[in-house]
Amino acid sequence: MNKLKLHHQIIIAMIVGSLTGFLFKGETDSLVYNIIISMGIIFIRLLKMIIVPLIFSSIVVGVSSIASGRALGRIGLKTVAYYFLTSLLAILIGLSLTNLIAPGVGTTLASSNAFDPSSLSKPGSIGEILIRMIPLNPVHAASTGDMLGIIFFSILLGVSMTRLEDGSNSFVRKFFESFFKVMMKMTEMIIKLAPLGVLGLITKVVATTGLAIFISVGKYVVTIALGLSIHILFVLPFIFYVFTGKNPILHFRAMAPAMATAFSTSSSNATLPMTIKCVEKNAGVSNKVSSFVLPLGATINMDGTALYECAGVLFIAQVLGVDLTMYQQLVIVVTALLASIGAAGIPSAGLVMIFIVTQAVGFKDQEVALIVGTMLAVDRPLDMFRTVVNIFSDSVGTSLIAKSEGESLYDDMD
Ligand code: ASP
Repeated sequence: MNKLKLHHQIIIAMIVGSLTGFLFKGETDSLVYNIIISMGIIFIRLLKMIIVPLIFSSIVVGVSSIASGRALGRIGLKTVAYYFLTSLLAILIGLSLTNLIAPGVGTTLASSNAFDPSSLSKPGSIGEILIRMIPLNPVHAASTGDMLGIIFFSILLGVSMTRLEDGSNSFVRKFFESFFKVMMKMTEMIIKLAPLGVLGLITKVVATTGLAIFISVGKYVVTIALGLSIHILFVLPFIFYVFTGKNPILHFRAMAPAMATAFSTSSSNATLPMTIKCVEKNAGVSNKVSSFVLPLGATINMDGTALYECAGVLFIAQVLGVDLTMYQQLVIVVTALLASIGAAGIPSAGLVMIFIVTQAVGFKDQEVALIVGTMLAVDRPLDMFRTVVNIFSDSVGTSLIAKSEGESLYDDMD
């Protein structure tokens, strides 16, 4: 039977979802609409359900299979270097474009969008975020979805397992390996539902997001969308080509289902199962590399979010009529990077983290609140786009690192 490939099914679902979304605009009470959007809700719940056990088992197995401390240090270093570098490049793109286009200059915002900033949960300071990486109780970290805490504990557990006398033969290692395999099977089963889930999610976005708001902050949306496009269409493919010698189109094709999932869920975490599957099955990266690099990336490597933090704060400064000094712009670059590391891989996390950056340059929460209210109204489509950039960068990093570890990629891409 000539079955449609998953990414084709997903693309069709996106088109159909956009049409049904238009059809149901203003009719969100109808039964059919609610049945359609519940498919999206069920899909997201299924993805969220597997995230914690998947991240946990994936990192434990990943770290423990990079047997020597040396190799772990080497891969870890490359991972962090790549994440740091690409996020910084993204920020510089955001910085240049926002200074060039100046979307906030002359922008007037409707006061009806004012909202109380205390309604957003406060992100806490950067130092706090780093200390909070160490969970008081790993079980609590898992039950509350504290990703950094889970990652920290899983890495330590993996490292400790390599120190056991019977090493790779130990019972505990075999147990986690089998557990991880089971989680991957469960992931595969859930991913088969992606087209239905995407259909429900896109229908909801199109049916509920009005277009009018885009006009008042149109330039802002365009600036960020342009920056994200430059990063994903030129910068990342260029890096990919230089380090792997392969055609970046291959990689876009390999990652299409994951990108579509990121677009419709706005969550790097929820997309992680799909990202792992695409990187391993389509790009041919070994599980050893992907199971360590990807979960880490979904949590700390967010190029799209980093670009957005920087451009967003400059936009706020322009609307407020504040002229930023070079030093303040530097503070924004550094805090935008930290904020993107601290942002969780969930919808709108980046918007909340913007307060970290505005506080660092000394803007008052109250002044910022009005503008963030409007930014919130257009955040969903931007969030969809920056999540795609976030996971694409993770996948490029994984391929680069796999290649540098002597793996051959794309040999048997279907
Ligand atoms: N939604 C993004 C993600 O999951 C984070 C953000 O809001 O920028 O990657």
